[in-house]
Amino acid sequence: MPLTSTTDKIATGELTLEDIEWLSQLLEEERRHVLGVDLTRYDFSPPSLEALGSPIVTKTPRSLLLPVAKGLVKQSLGITPDPVMLTHILTTRCNYSCGFCSFADSLNQKTDEMGLDEIELTYSSMGSALNTIVYSGGETTLHPQIVEIIEAAYRITRVKSVYIISNAWKPERLLEITHTLMHRCPELHLTWSLSIEGFKDYNNSVRHTKAQKWDAWQNTIDTLFALKDARQEYGYHQLDVQLCTVCTPDNEAQMTLWYAFVKDVLKPDKWNLNLMRRSVQMSESALPDFLERRSSKRLQAFEEMYINITSQVLQDAKAGDLDFTYHTGTPLEGAMKSAVDLISQRENRNTLFDAPKQFKCKAGTIGAYLSATGEIGGCEEFVHHPQNPKGYGNVREHNYDFLALWKGKQAKRFRQLTGCSTECVGCTLESQRNYPAILLSPKTLVQAYKLGVTLLEAQTH
Ligand code: SF4
Repeated sequence: MPLTSTTDKIATGELTLEDIEWLSQLLEEERRHVLGVDLTRYDFSPPSLEALGSPIVTKTPRSLLLPVAKGLVKQSLGITPDPVMLTHILTTRCNYSCGFCSFADSLNQKTDEMGLDEIELTYSSMGSALNTIVYSGGETTLHPQIVEIIEAAYRITRVKSVYIISNAWKPERLLEITHTLMHRCPELHLTWSLSIEGFKDYNNSVRHTKAQKWDAWQNTIDTLFALKDARQEYGYHQLDVQLCTVCTPDNEAQMTLWYAFVKDVLKPDKWNLNLMRRSVQMSESALPDFLERRSSKRLQAFEEMYINITSQVLQDAKAGDLDFTYHTGTPLEGAMKSAVDLISQRENRNTLFDAPKQFKCKAGTIGAYLSATGEIGGCEEFVHHPQNPKGYGNVREHNYDFLALWKGKQAKRFRQLTGCSTECVGCTLESQRNYPAILLSPKTLVQAYKLGVTLLEAQTH
């Protein structure tokens, strides 16, 4: 098959499964060529050792097991645990303006975002259990101090795993951040989650960038390959690079082919398919609002697609036909993280079916949310509710004392609404609703262990 015509088909998404099969069998160099990947266009070399400075030396224990065990004990005693997971919105600025973004209505509004000093003070008062931070936005890499902020978390807290969600607008910037963090924070597990919404033309059309010829798709693909190369070349054995797609009414028609393409051609370490948030109404396809959809008991095509594809992902991961793993301290730890992701998707499927829930939301117990301007709470839906916000307070108004607010009266009052407020109906917030709850339930922890073992066996066969 002529390579140039395949490149065109990748742009439009007019591929067949046979084309994808053919692409999957190409040599790596040819595959990159068809995908338009030419990494020689960039300077990806690491900063000099002098510029990087010395690695941060800590003797901090960073295991997830201990804080989770403590959380379980405290939960059984009715005591609020210190947060183990944090979703931290670094900025609500973005150079793209995607309609499905949770901050679509407020993106780029002028806000007084927290800087490094304030964030350091906040991290210093978060207790002794913090293990995982998800950095989100806006576009995270637009925060000029993102590296220093993550270094501060590593120095001050017991954080082990950091996820950075990014649109990968500037591959050199993501590589520079990676080189610096891998050098400065030697025990850190860093996961990039790069947004991509489907085949090239569609992806670039929904990004709504100001520059008409901006190739958002190519930037993401180039970054994916460059990060995987960097892991290999520099021995970054705790670096992961994932792709992340939001399943919406506008891309559901291409989702089956897109999944095959991601799985067999792009091959990220892991692919996350997220469901469009219930509060987002991006499509021009006259989508009934969320409550109407649920009361009619009929699933929309994109919801059915989410169910089908995530079920297939589970099957393929269990059969070892899909890369779905993490490069962490030990293979079992990585497999258990993958298992937690799969259980989270299963719970989202249950939510769509209105099936009995496997767990109660734990936002506000071991899972915390910190906004770009210092509001804290259990989750973004509560903190930013337009009519009825339920945040626990702003650290700026409380001497940056996170735990004072976390254990304060307002937190106690709003924590009682966790999982049972109107915005909780149909909630599918992975990092805020699902992950803390999966970790804090013995039942789902055992499920994650068993599934992790299955995934590990599948990978090694
Ligand atoms: S169910 Fe969702 S909206 Fe409700 S508290 Fe949990 S994370 Fe927040």
